[in-house]
Amino acid sequence: NRQLTLASRPEGAPGKDNFHAQTSPVPEIEDGQMLLRTVYLSLDPYMRGRMSNAESYAEPVAIGEVMVGGTVNRVMASRHPDYKEGDWVVSYTVGWQDYGVSDGSMLFKLDPDYGPVSHALGVLGMPGFTAYMGLMDIGQPKAGETLVVAAATGPVGATVAQIGKIMGCRVVAIAGGEQKRQHLESMGVDVALDHKSTDFARQLADACPSGIDIYFENVGGKVFKAVLPLLNLCARIPLCGTVSGYNTSELPEGPDHLDMAWSTLQTRRVRVQSFIIFDDYGHCYGEFSEHMSKWVADGAIQYREQIIEGLEQVPDALRGLLEGENFGKLVVRVGPD
Ligand code: NDP
Repeated sequence: NRQLTLASRPEGAPGKDNFHAQTSPVPEIEDGQMLLRTVYLSLDPYMRGRMSNAESYAEPVAIGEVMVGGTVNRVMASRHPDYKEGDWVVSYTVGWQDYGVSDGSMLFKLDPDYGPVSHALGVLGMPGFTAYMGLMDIGQPKAGETLVVAAATGPVGATVAQIGKIMGCRVVAIAGGEQKRQHLESMGVDVALDHKSTDFARQLADACPSGIDIYFENVGGKVFKAVLPLLNLCARIPLCGTVSGYNTSELPEGPDHLDMAWSTLQTRRVRVQSFIIFDDYGHCYGEFSEHMSKWVADGAIQYREQIIEGLEQVPDALRGLLEGENFGKLVVRVGPD
């Protein structure tokens, strides 16, 4: 059983030295348990937070513990009444290793006839759920409104952009680099922008002649600064994540815009609502699943995945994810079907 554990807490970007590779015997199971083998591991921005001791909504991974993560697994042996050998499941308790034992908690069964099982880690799983609830419940999209979203080739952003189109919004989608920008155009958004352009703030203003009604916040940083002056009266901001700052623990250099930002939100009566998907919306999973599986099945929502091979690639891939090197939902193939 190959395992990657947390060896040290990173300062700045995470690197190979922060992890330790080890092997352990394949675990035994007892009554009520099953043995799971990992086929796919999801890499997600929140993992950077779990490596850190900083205050967060979830406990950090302890030094020496196997890193956490969502996985698609095969049931290898079962003494659990609801699961049998050969079943496909998504688990949130196995993490960065080949084998794990589960008692059925934080586990969902998958139907492999339905489509690629790895999609359960993206558009049909946690990131898709995040996009759906954040936009529909907090964003409250209405036809004709302007919706802005960044990290828009990733699993959350791409899903937000496409649900926005389904709801009749004018969608301005943002990503890093020309190749990703062109991909956004092919997704059918109204305007696709590259946040690395030197005149990005002006391009965003030109792209939003009627202001911004919904800003789905994935990234923070310079994108948020460019959005702020364009917010309309009673705009909504689903505050989903601020990935541009996940590798930093200090305040940025330069002028402090906090008071100006605060007063803009107040005078324009902006609704800002942060959320943690399963904590706040776990009870809505059925509603999400029903809508999203239909949209994906009939092609209304497209999905881009980047699959890399091998558990040993994971540390470097996580660093790359936080720096925009991924192109689509980043998934690691850990073992055979
Ligand atoms: P992505 O696969 O989109 O990966 C992160 C992307 O962020 C990178 O590919 C990069 O895209 C972009 N990025 C990185 N640095 C910057 C920067 N300085 N400025 C602008 N963009 C940057 O991630 P996900 O779709 O999985 O997650 C998107 C967001 O949603 C994250 O903030 C994540 O933490 C959050 N999230 C929140 C949840 C919740 O419950 N609240 C649940 C799940 C996700 P590019 O190259 O285009 O810049």
